[in-house]
Amino acid sequence: TSAPVLPTTDELRDRAARLLLEFGVDPVDSGDLPARTPITGGELMRVPATSAFEVTCAIDKAHSAFRTWRTVPAPQRAAVVRRLGQLLTDNLDALAELVTLEAGKIGAEARGEVQEMIDVCEFAVGLSRQLYGRTMASERPGHRLMETWHPLGVVGVISAFNFPVAVWSWNTAIALVCGDTVVWKPSQTTPLTALACDALLRRAALDVGADPRIHQLIQGGADVGTQLVDDERVALVSATGSVRMGQQVAPRVAARFGRCLLELGGNNAAIVTPSADLDLTTRAVVFAAAGTAGQRCTTLRRVIAHVDVAGPLLARMSAAYHQLPVGNPFDDAVLVGPLIDGRAHTAMRAAIERALADGGELICGGERVEVGGGDSYYVRPAIIRMPAQTAIVREETFAPILYVLTYHDLDSAIALHNDVPQGLSSAIFTGDQREAERFLAADGSDCGIANVNIGTSGAEIGGAFGGEKQTGGGRESGSDSWKAYMRRATNTVNYSTELPLAQGIRFG
Ligand code: NAD
Repeated sequence: TSAPVLPTTDELRDRAARLLLEFGVDPVDSGDLPARTPITGGELMRVPATSAFEVTCAIDKAHSAFRTWRTVPAPQRAAVVRRLGQLLTDNLDALAELVTLEAGKIGAEARGEVQEMIDVCEFAVGLSRQLYGRTMASERPGHRLMETWHPLGVVGVISAFNFPVAVWSWNTAIALVCGDTVVWKPSQTTPLTALACDALLRRAALDVGADPRIHQLIQGGADVGTQLVDDERVALVSATGSVRMGQQVAPRVAARFGRCLLELGGNNAAIVTPSADLDLTTRAVVFAAAGTAGQRCTTLRRVIAHVDVAGPLLARMSAAYHQLPVGNPFDDAVLVGPLIDGRAHTAMRAAIERALADGGELICGGERVEVGGGDSYYVRPAIIRMPAQTAIVREETFAPILYVLTYHDLDSAIALHNDVPQGLSSAIFTGDQREAERFLAADGSDCGIANVNIGTSGAEIGGAFGGEKQTGGGRESGSDSWKAYMRRATNTVNYSTELPLAQGIRFG
């Protein structure tokens, strides 16, 4: 089933302009950066790209604001984030609409993305009273040994197109309560949502009497990102995107001894064991593999099913796939919106061809759906049964292709599961506690996220989010991820009149 009617680019442009005005942003429609919509593939408007000189000025401002911001007590800093959370709540639908316009996410997922921003603001407000250091027992009499967490500096946030607003909020809400200031370079594919978020944060700062220079938006492509990456005043570069981007960014930051927090690509798998509840598994697999048109870093890309359940599971999955409505993401009945652009479609076609050349069998999907013509790319999510985990299966193709492999014993399934360069998210579907615990153990899944009877996507903000190996090793959002945004000082205080040295050393 496909939703036949698409709005025109002109209609979408009017909608975008109206939404921007709601956020207090003038839709200027001049500049070097085209804002497109994947719904029709048309250009909505142009926005100014940030010049090299303006990038330097933005970092200047964030750096200068940091000198004061770091001395504001954390619970007071939280006022900005609390206000941002309120403004996001008030503007949830409008921001979600912009996300759908620019990134093509269906309404429910776009609203979920904004809800996640509100959740992380709440988390950060609570965190502002819990930036705990420890007190350790000193080996010396009359001494106190402790650690204090201090603000780090300017945080450079580089984000990807597929979570155009949530990733910004994960970084920014936490960085701000930690006493850092932020310079944000969003994806050049999603400049309008960035303008809206920047306007909301500016308003939040002004409403609570904070310095609005604590947040700076810079717009453009990799060249603008590189300038941010290379600036010595940027203490932490938190970059979300492809492995290729991480490979370019990490050495540059390391060369100047800056800090990096990398959230890169995934190649997420689920092991389905003979004791799995196949109805629950099918529902979880379909959402994780086809949701967001396969364009989540945590999208399920591989199913490793026990030979005894592969057949019935595939039958259920392909039946569910045939029911997936593809089309206009503003239509509430649609579950699969467009790919971001023609490049994504070309990559999907190329991957399917390579998989078939490797002996893969196309179970369903993969074809383009003519929803609106023009430069928009709608596809049916594909399932391909593979005889082995060939090179193409080990790559992340950012499109809805699910490879299905089979196994005989759990050890070999786990080995297959871990035998990819990426290490973001993973899942096992089982009713057997031994299998579940084995998957979560030290010699189980090697990913940053390992789930039982839940798909690989759709993490809650309370946990630390991120992955291992080529996924980059960073952790963001909940738990103690805040520590990446602060620097630790170890303090020893001597309150005695003696001067005992550590390790019992006598000097003179
Ligand atoms: P991308 O790598 O093309 O771009 C991401 C961002 O990096 C953009 O803002 C881009 O302008 C910037 N960039 C690219 N090269 C750069 C360079 N050399 N220096 C500085 N900045 C540079 O990724 P994309 O297509 O926007 O997003 C999809 C990718 O992001 C997928 O691989 C996906 O798995 C990954 N992703 C990861 C996570 C995560 O949390 N692990 C979340 C979302 C997306």
